[in-house]
Amino acid sequence: MAFNIDQIRSDFPILNQKVNGKPLIYFDNAATTQKPLPVIQRLTDYYLKENSNVHRGVHHLSQVATEIYENARNYVAEYIHAEESDEIVFTRGTTESINLLSRALVPWIEANDEILISAMEHHSNLVPWQQLCAERKAKLKIIPLNEDGSLDMNFLEKMLNPQVKLLAITHISNVLGTINPVEEIIRIAHEKGVPVLLDGAQGIAHSPVDVKASGVDFYTFSGHKIYAPMGIGVLYGRKTWLRRLPPYQFGGEMIDQVSFDRTTFNQLPYKYEAGTPNVSGALGLEAALRYVSEIGIDKIINYEEKLLTRATEKLEEIEGMRIIGRAKNKAAVLSFVVNGIHPYDLGTLLDQMGVAVRTGHHCAQPLIDMLGIPGTVRASFALYNTPEEVDVFAEAVKKAVAMLM
Ligand code: PMP
Repeated sequence: MAFNIDQIRSDFPILNQKVNGKPLIYFDNAATTQKPLPVIQRLTDYYLKENSNVHRGVHHLSQVATEIYENARNYVAEYIHAEESDEIVFTRGTTESINLLSRALVPWIEANDEILISAMEHHSNLVPWQQLCAERKAKLKIIPLNEDGSLDMNFLEKMLNPQVKLLAITHISNVLGTINPVEEIIRIAHEKGVPVLLDGAQGIAHSPVDVKASGVDFYTFSGHKIYAPMGIGVLYGRKTWLRRLPPYQFGGEMIDQVSFDRTTFNQLPYKYEAGTPNVSGALGLEAALRYVSEIGIDKIINYEEKLLTRATEKLEEIEGMRIIGRAKNKAAVLSFVVNGIHPYDLGTLLDQMGVAVRTGHHCAQPLIDMLGIPGTVRASFALYNTPEEVDVFAEAVKKAVAMLM
């Protein structure tokens, strides 16, 4: 399918509004993306025609709901190239996926074991591991970054010693935009016998994902970052892992047999899906992935790259501008600070001009502290943004800087 920006924008009616009297320019896509009509329609159809609880009923609607829910799982598996759909666990999102795994790994981590993360992690891929390490008297080790915001691969290799039980790293940084060389990372880690988790919260929307080819052990993502509803996400786990790890929450759905004395657990993936799942969310996720797939992730990446280059070039013209994150391999995230101006003030003025950006530490406080800055302004792009919006944004930044200087 050709990349038709007018068609794409008409799929996102929310974009067609004014904010503070100015046409909305939505550049906060790394926080959450807008939803296209096919996704919204899928949710509506579900509640108009198909709503029922899954896996439990003999009646028609329950069987329909079960079938479409499981079809959504099959499609997610196909989209990320999982070998089997049992390896797809539906969760609330990246945060829950990582918490699930960090809890399931409790018995596997012993005193003085090490868990490696990088200095660019979101709190979601940091705090759960920090807590697990504290609980098990293990050590959380941090892989440093190069000046340009790329991962220090030499350090990474040196840090992979026999004590390391897991390498948990982001696919794409939500602050720096750095795309980590995940295939190489997985290969090096596996050579040392270390399993790898990738935080794909940003990766899913700005990169092809092939869990089979990359050999990654765990991949996590949130639907809302890729045009799907909030409250649905995925933990992909290699079957050999998920089979041997214990459940995370207990209750209905995740059981096989229950007596007052003991319980046996259900098979994968239900072992990890206690309680009533987010059926409509799963359907919305399927619709969103189909939408992306129909346009083509490669075309989207190519288009977003052009937006990023244009925005970077325009911002560089501004005096006092410092772009945060200069890695060669970068996705559609542009963080910056301007000398002498607080990011919050800049963000507030941009909002008055109709431009939605995010300011602050972006849930990566240790990284921001390490950089010695109060936070950044972050513009992040999606498939519905346009070069014209980038130009208006750059002019708005210029204007705001002039006002605040
Ligand atoms: N990791 C990264 C890299 C992210 O960008 C985000 C969302 N900002 C998360 C994890 C957490 O995702 P969620 O809030 O959807 O669980």
